[in-house]
Amino acid sequence: MEQVECVVVGAGVVGLAIARRLAQAGREVIVLEAAEGIGTGTSSRNSEVIHAGIYYRAGSLMARLCVAGKQALYTYCRDHGVPHRNCGKLIVATTAAEADKLAAINSHAAANGVDDLRTLDAAAARALEPSLSCVAALLSPSTGIVDSHAYMLALRGDAEDAGAAFAFHAPLLRVTSADEGLALDVGGEASMTLGCRLLINAAGLGAPALARAIEPMPPELVPTAYLAKGNYFSCGVRAPFSHLIYPVPEPGGLGVHLTLDMGGQARFGPDVEWIDSIDYVVDPARAERFYPAIRKYWPGLPDGALAPGYSGIRPKIVPPSVAVQDFVIQGPDAHGVAGLINLFGIESPGLTASLAIANHVADLVEAA
Ligand SMILES: Cc1cc2nc3c(=O)[nH]c(=O)nc-3n(C[C@H](O)[C@H](O)[C@H](O)COP(=O)(O)OP(=O)(O)OC[C@H]3O[C@@H](n4cnc5c(N)ncnc54)[C@H](O)[C@@H]3O)c2cc1C
Repeated sequence: MEQVECVVVGAGVVGLAIARRLAQAGREVIVLEAAEGIGTGTSSRNSEVIHAGIYYRAGSLMARLCVAGKQALYTYCRDHGVPHRNCGKLIVATTAAEADKLAAINSHAAANGVDDLRTLDAAAARALEPSLSCVAALLSPSTGIVDSHAYMLALRGDAEDAGAAFAFHAPLLRVTSADEGLALDVGGEASMTLGCRLLINAAGLGAPALARAIEPMPPELVPTAYLAKGNYFSCGVRAPFSHLIYPVPEPGGLGVHLTLDMGGQARFGPDVEWIDSIDYVVDPARAERFYPAIRKYWPGLPDGALAPGYSGIRPKIVPPSVAVQDFVIQGPDAHGVAGLINLFGIESPGLTASLAIANHVADLVEAA
């Protein structure tokens, strides 16, 4: 049986960041990816927003790794020439009741270490965005956007420069205990059995299923996977905004918001649609809910401007009745399997947090 030190499963943004980090620390790394290339899963089906870290529960992994990851990501993008823009975001209140909530959002953000939000009255908000309708707003200057594909290519390049190898069309099917660690049954084109001392399960939507196929892993510690699809609509006209525009969040979601890609093209979404199996088709009928929500802050949205865009699926590990979920990153202390680290529920802000998640995993590896 061929033996390697470390196997990372999944070449999404999180697996790539971890592979880079471990390879740069001098470890021998192989990345196993079921698909034909990097970043074909959730990592290429998101909003590409560099989140500030405003809403997450204080002290949660999401809050801590988002704030640390944001800073690391801006630095990385600057140093590696990855296209990104620190465009800022406006959280807009369109009623007096919503305006009353802005102060609470501001203090929640400050508790997470995001202390640069500025409260704007309607005139100040419109001075920034003349087409905006609102009664007040919060400006988040540290929010931005990134070309996620260029970022992932740069991570892969760093990982390969540090000696990491990639195997595509290489799904990990089953894991058993072996004398020197774990034995991996790899399917697909390069079907083989591989031995390793360190296994990182960064399989995104597939992480719970993979954990269940790891024989020594206690099944009661594997969360149930739930799928929450987020649908996007593209905008057929040029949207007159230079900041990202988010409504005040409502129970259950962030509301229908406007994000921009690096080309300045606006998209709206994602909404929340709980589904039973992976299906990325966007139902055009959902546009009917988008128009009234968007017109609260952009009354000028023309009829017929929205077209079905794309969708992504949040790798949830809590059912719809549970509003809050944190990242779950389990090392041997949590499950008792030497050399295994599982990452579950890496939904938003996983892209923003990716470099910090990699550091966190590297710390768990060192501690093991
Ligand atoms: C709608 C939506 C919007 C989002 N917007 C943002 C945002 O604006 N900003 C932000 O910071 N985050 C955002 N996120 C979150 C972010 O996209 C994810 O956290 C991130 O992409 C997760 O990356 P990953 O590497 O964990 O998973 P993935 O990208 O899904 O990668 C997992 C990989 O594992 C592979 N795999 C699975 N099982 C196996 C197996 N058994 N063997 C081998 N390979 C396997 C898959 O093929 C896949 O390539 C958003 C998420 C969604 C759903």
